[in-house]
Amino acid sequence: MAKKKFNLELALYTAINNQIVSEGTNMLGAFRDVLTDLMHIAHNQGIEFKSRLKAAEEVYTEERATCEDCGKKLQQDKGNNFTLCTKCQNNYPD
Ligand SMILES: [Zn+2]
Repeated sequence: MAKKKFNLELALYTAINNQIVSEGTNMLGAFRDVLTDLMHIAHNQGIEFKSRLKAAEEVYTEERATCEDCGKKLQQDKGNNFTLCTKCQNNYPD
């Protein structure tokens, strides 16, 4: 039987929901708690949190990139450079 791939986003949703139930907080409070604990982990590991946050924002922007004309989600090549829109043939970045 094949091992199921770990899904970090799902694990984080589960952690947030567990925090809501455990602490009697809401989504915003639980989200803040997750970020706070990530800051503690970064500090304990000698990682500069703000630089990781900036890197995450860059990856998020790339992952959310869509074609300006048709709105189709753009696919990335292995170098994380945007490719063309397969629907209307726009090239990104141009
Ligand atoms: Zn397009």
